[in-house]
Amino acid sequence: MSGYFRDLLDGTKSLAVGLGITFKYMVGPVITLQYPHQTLPMQPRFRGHIDLVRDPETGTDRCIVCGMCQKTCPSGCITVAGDKVEGVKKKALTLYTLDFTKCSLCGLCVEVCPADAITFSKDYNLAGRSREAYVFDLKKRLEERKG
Ligand code: SF4
Ligand code: SF4
Repeated sequence: MSGYFRDLLDGTKSLAVGLGITFKYMVGPVITLQYPHQTLPMQPRFRGHIDLVRDPETGTDRCIVCGMCQKTCPSGCITVAGDKVEGVKKKALTLYTLDFTKCSLCGLCVEVCPADAITFSKDYNLAGRSREAYVFDLKKRLEERKG
């Protein structure tokens, strides 16, 4: 009989502990997000794929098509091309692609850029069904991007 009461006591204690934890989380702050409808801002040092920086004065890219990022990238994932424009010293960027399947996020391209024309994006919502989906046209992305 004493075993019966000990079990009853243990069960009641366990139930009280469980309910205590449930109650604590019921009245505490909500720490879950309704992803993907809600997202968290990424930390300043978060490294997403590289992106072109928008020049606030011109509203377009800051790239001077020097090719340093392409030459420096140890994985060969950057392709840059540009055209000479009549009367303008700087070349105009016509193509900037990134093969993100090869990128190790080492940051050498960002460091070497003399025009501060590339940065790490905060994009972590990447999904695709093919490798081609991860070859990004960064010039097009800049044109489509609001910020
Ligand atoms: S972060 Fe590194 S691997 Fe990725 S594109 Fe830049 S240089 Fe290449
Ligand atoms: S290093 Fe900078 S300026 Fe030169 S091609 Fe790359 S992004 Fe453009």
